[in-house]
Amino acid sequence: MPTSEISSSKNVRKQYIYKFSGGRAEGDASMKNLLGGKGANLAEMANIGLPVPPGFTISTEVCTWYYEHQQSYPENLFESDIPEALRSVEEALGKKFGDPENPLLISVRSGARASMPGMMDTILNLGLNDRTVEGLAAKSSNPRFAWDCYRRFVQMYGDVVLGLRPADKKQKDPFEEILEAEKEKLGVREDTELGTTELQEIVRLYKKAILEHTGRTFPDDPHEQLQGAVGAVFESWNNERAQVYRRLNHIPGYWGTACNVQAMVFGNMGEDCGTGVAFTRDAATGENVFYGEFLMNAQGEDVVAGIRTPLEIARLKEEKPEIYRQLDGIRTTLEQHYRDMMDIEFTIESGTLYMLQCRVGKRTGPAALKIAVDMFREGLIDDREALLRIEPEQLNQLLRPVFDMKEKQAAIEAGRLLAKGLNAGPGAATGKICFNATDAAELSRRGEAVILVRIETSPEDIKGMAVSEGILTERGGMTSHAALVARQMGKVCVAGCGALSIDYQKGEMRVEGSEIVLREGDDISLDGTTGEVIAGSLPTRNSEIVEVLVDGTRKPEDAPSWEVYRQLMEWADRYRRLQIRANADQPDQAATALTFGAEGIGLCRTEHMFFGGERIQAMREMILADNLEERNTAIQKLLPYQRDDFYGLFRTMGSRPVTIRLLDPPLHEFLPGSDEEIMRLALKMGKPYEHVKERIADLHEFNPMLGLRGCRLGILHPEITIMQVQAIMEAACRLRQEGLEVVPEIMVPLVSTHRELEITAELIHKTARSVVAEQWTGVRYLVGTMIEVPRAAITSAEIARAADFFSYGTNDLTQMTLGMSRDDSGQYLPSYQQHDVFARNPFESIDIAGVGKLISMSAADGRSVKPDLKLGICGEHGGDPASVEFCHKAGLNYVSCSPYRVPVARLAAARAALLD
Ligand code: ADP
Ligand code: MG
Ligand code: MG
Repeated sequence: MPTSEISSSKNVRKQYIYKFSGGRAEGDASMKNLLGGKGANLAEMANIGLPVPPGFTISTEVCTWYYEHQQSYPENLFESDIPEALRSVEEALGKKFGDPENPLLISVRSGARASMPGMMDTILNLGLNDRTVEGLAAKSSNPRFAWDCYRRFVQMYGDVVLGLRPADKKQKDPFEEILEAEKEKLGVREDTELGTTELQEIVRLYKKAILEHTGRTFPDDPHEQLQGAVGAVFESWNNERAQVYRRLNHIPGYWGTACNVQAMVFGNMGEDCGTGVAFTRDAATGENVFYGEFLMNAQGEDVVAGIRTPLEIARLKEEKPEIYRQLDGIRTTLEQHYRDMMDIEFTIESGTLYMLQCRVGKRTGPAALKIAVDMFREGLIDDREALLRIEPEQLNQLLRPVFDMKEKQAAIEAGRLLAKGLNAGPGAATGKICFNATDAAELSRRGEAVILVRIETSPEDIKGMAVSEGILTERGGMTSHAALVARQMGKVCVAGCGALSIDYQKGEMRVEGSEIVLREGDDISLDGTTGEVIAGSLPTRNSEIVEVLVDGTRKPEDAPSWEVYRQLMEWADRYRRLQIRANADQPDQAATALTFGAEGIGLCRTEHMFFGGERIQAMREMILADNLEERNTAIQKLLPYQRDDFYGLFRTMGSRPVTIRLLDPPLHEFLPGSDEEIMRLALKMGKPYEHVKERIADLHEFNPMLGLRGCRLGILHPEITIMQVQAIMEAACRLRQEGLEVVPEIMVPLVSTHRELEITAELIHKTARSVVAEQWTGVRYLVGTMIEVPRAAITSAEIARAADFFSYGTNDLTQMTLGMSRDDSGQYLPSYQQHDVFARNPFESIDIAGVGKLISMSAADGRSVKPDLKLGICGEHGGDPASVEFCHKAGLNYVSCSPYRVPVARLAAARAALLD
């Protein structure tokens, strides 16, 4: 660049204001950062020739400046920039701002980069005072209308700029109070019934109230009004509502809001005027129908505010066919232009239509899917774009059981909402309360729908969880045992519902701050999508997709959402490079995973196989054995169970890969707790009660999660490993004899040094060889390890020598890397997130900077030794879209997640590949 240009560009003042008017604008839709979403789209609509009232956008940079310079403005903003921009508007319309004869009125509207609906402020009808109102009355030959505008303006200005608003929600709005009193005095019900004289009186009372309550006078000077309004819009960026909203939606505070100044058009000027909001398609179902509401003779927020009941857009077709035709044309223009479903705001002034806003419309999961697929078929977008349009969580909504919305709303209105917990396992469930797994199993055997209610859950509760419709816990977070297992099983779960207090002894549950007590057997309903806990039962049903895939109770052709789902999954599989496996322990879970498109099992937890019926008995005998002989006897009882379990699992999975983890948890998890149970066990084992009790006490550990578990178990008691490997290999041999080739992947947990893996691998090979020799059947198998201890991640090059594969156990790896117990982190993680310590809960979404770095390092080190080392992850993170994206980038071969998350992971993997 020549020097002259550099110096001249230095002298050019930064552009703070961007004008728009019919047919042309200085901005466009790509300039959201500078103009905010509203401003950018107003400019875009003007550019494509839609009827947009003229105006201008004061950029977000002015807002940032405002906050960086003690609430002041860039030089000359109000002295020359704004007046100059206003002049363009005046010229376009032949009106003048503040002119008593023919006044220009404007709206001053907030609008940030990301839409923050209803969080910030907007002021309408600005420019009115006691003189201009008469000009407006004369010009429109409609004094009532002019005074209605004035009344609305004084109210909005008094509230937003001068701060006259109720201190809390319980108090009445002072303006509403005045209005109600007047209406009562006159005996009228609707605002529209108020005449000019009454409105004049109300304006007077409003101003008086402002002065009395705030000590501030309502300003007459339109320029002063404007400056106040711009300041208020910028201030509203930092009001409490907006701050909370930003925190919840990860919107940074430094973005700031833009401020749009726009000529008013009037929907409240008579019966051929009106205002409305609409979606270009149905935002709930995605159906390609125009969907919206409007009110005749109304302004701005009237439609949303619920002052009068709005009419459906179809009525506009009957009442004002010409306007409807125009609006419908704009609907098509917008969809063709934006190639997406849009949310619009419009106003009709004396039969002429104006567009006041458009943005990409928010939609439910089912709608998002349908719209993406439909738009592909309409030729608006291609398959890649369709995939990128759908948030993986939106797909998830299609898989969950559902409540009938109307019934749920009625129940809430009838006061049946008991409490709200974490929405840990989405979907809807209803059934009878059970406080323990045994009762739950019993009740469900009698054909009752059961909701298992626990303070928190442990592996012992698995069988109760399996038969329950839903799980409710008082404690525990999004990745607590209850939440984790619920998601794997596809169960509805509301976790960590602190407002409940459960008493197992009394068999009852109390709701904090109320007299309500619920007992075992009472009906209760859980909405795991929202976390709501509702008293009584509510009708639910499986989603269509699940009815087709898992239940087989619905034919694909009878499920409207099926075709959309199928199409989307086909596209996802076309573009993704990661393989998707599922975490499953049982044949039925594996079968479900397969219908959802799983390509293997990434984690079979063998411990869950030891809980049913006789097995737990044999397991306990093994743990408490006094010598090797006793231990072997007990273990031999377990062998056939294990072999059958693995056989079933392999059979279901066919020749797909199945990773089986050797026994992992601390042994005490299998032992009885109550004296009564210990007594019974002692009797069965033929040993004195005192002795058994002592043995149990011996096994006590201060920190069991870092205790005798994982590969340490097998190193101390090789018999356990031998039995498990024997069961795996025998099952594989049997299938081989039946003609099915399976290649088991045997996985060693909790390895931290290469020696641990070497010792265990040697034992595995020895056992496997002897089974193969005995059975006369050749079976291939792999030996690999979980990488879940930081030391293992750091020494991956050495560990890889003894491993065919690594599977990152990101639950434990996160716990140990962060030094943070997953099950106890619920206490402080929420406030950690408030302080931005973590953008997201690290147990839900991989902590990329820390845990992620370990994984990437380990993957590179491992492959430097063994280029074909298979890599995957099997933690809960496998179903989290952001984590899936990370795994794609880190070059893993697969992710493994709970069966019901498989479709989400397929979509997330495709999106990661497309964004790469
Ligand atoms: P929000 O972001 O809360 O939707 P807006 O700035 O869109 O706030 O304003 C709310 C409503 O005010 C709009 O939907 C529209 O009906 C009305 N409004 C805003 N500007 C104008 C205008 N220039 N003329 C007529 N009505 C307007
Ligand atoms: Mg709006
Ligand atoms: Mg682990």
